[in-house]
Amino acid sequence: MTVFSRPDFDHHQSVHFHQDAASGLRAIIAIHNTNLGPALGGCRMWSYADDTEALDDVLRLSKGMTYKAAMAGLDFGGGKAVIIGDSRTQKTDGLIRAMARFIDSLGGAYHTGEDVGMTVADMDIMRQVTPYAHGVSDGSGNPSPATAWGVFVGIRAAARHRLGSGELDGVKVAVQGLGNVGAALCRYLADAGARLTIADIDAEKVRAAQEAFGATAVVSDDIHRADVEIFAPCALGAGLNDATIPELKAAVVAGSANNQLAEARHGDILREKSILYAPDYVINAGGLIDIAAEGPDYNTDDVLRRVGGIEATLARVFERAEAENQTPERIADRIAEERFGHGAALAA
Ligand code: NAD
Repeated sequence: MTVFSRPDFDHHQSVHFHQDAASGLRAIIAIHNTNLGPALGGCRMWSYADDTEALDDVLRLSKGMTYKAAMAGLDFGGGKAVIIGDSRTQKTDGLIRAMARFIDSLGGAYHTGEDVGMTVADMDIMRQVTPYAHGVSDGSGNPSPATAWGVFVGIRAAARHRLGSGELDGVKVAVQGLGNVGAALCRYLADAGARLTIADIDAEKVRAAQEAFGATAVVSDDIHRADVEIFAPCALGAGLNDATIPELKAAVVAGSANNQLAEARHGDILREKSILYAPDYVINAGGLIDIAAEGPDYNTDDVLRRVGGIEATLARVFERAEAENQTPERIADRIAEERFGHGAALAA
């Protein structure tokens, strides 16, 4: 397996591999950039097909964290950890502790948090071993409510830019995915008077949202073509692709899902169709802002105020994108690179 020549190696500062025979842990920590501070990013446990798939995932994710932290105005850099294995069958107390020792051995260069396959309870175990585990139950805990607030204010910014008003009363919004973020977002939208169309593959979540928000339910395969002003993808990634984009009726796409664009060119297609796209890593940074704030002075109101800054950040991105005739995601990348000094560590 090669490391330096992987497509997403791109300026990574270090990549660490670790095996613990006693617990069966096999894990990789990638540190992309620490110009702004220690690397921060979640720990993912996933049944990767092979080591290369795990390496590519951790490199891609860790690079993304540098951009996300920089855009969120945090004094953190970007990093990520992956554990190779099935979280449902292979996750043990011993394995989590071994992972925490691995993180601790880096001396604070990398700070972790929850990601796919990990829970707040796992962070609690890690915290017993290392101070570099965030999102513990007596700290910031579940980041989803903060993420949902950031998406809500981001939707307001997008509506103001594209629809002429950030007032959501009577505005039709389609929410795809009613999980931790999607359900909390529906609450904010409903309180603001938005008219909701919803979909989830889980019928129970759909029923609950219909009751709670008076939302109109559609089948999952149809939600992207709902006749709405705003489409909020809050399920899985790659939902904006060659098949779905021609069918979109919304003027705005703004939701929490990571990696919404199947490929970078889909951002160009959205722009050609005059659909305003809120770059995912900018609008969904609320959870990261939340875990970054963990510490003795942690205060939920302060965090939500900081997360509210996503509204102004996105407004700047949209204005600059329009002025420079560019897609919002390219402008966001540029602003992030200006902040973290892309390539500066290598050039120094
Ligand atoms: P979650 O697992 O709680 O919810 C996802 C929901 O999507 C589930 O209810 C699931 O049934 C539904 N779903 C899956 N496939 C679907 C489909 N084809 N159509 C409709 N619904 C479908 O996850 P979450 O924590 O709410 O996160 C949602 C998205 O936001 C994910 O992409 C996640 O990576 C991203 N995100 C989350 C956070 C956070 O703080 N939780 C932060 C940043 C980004």
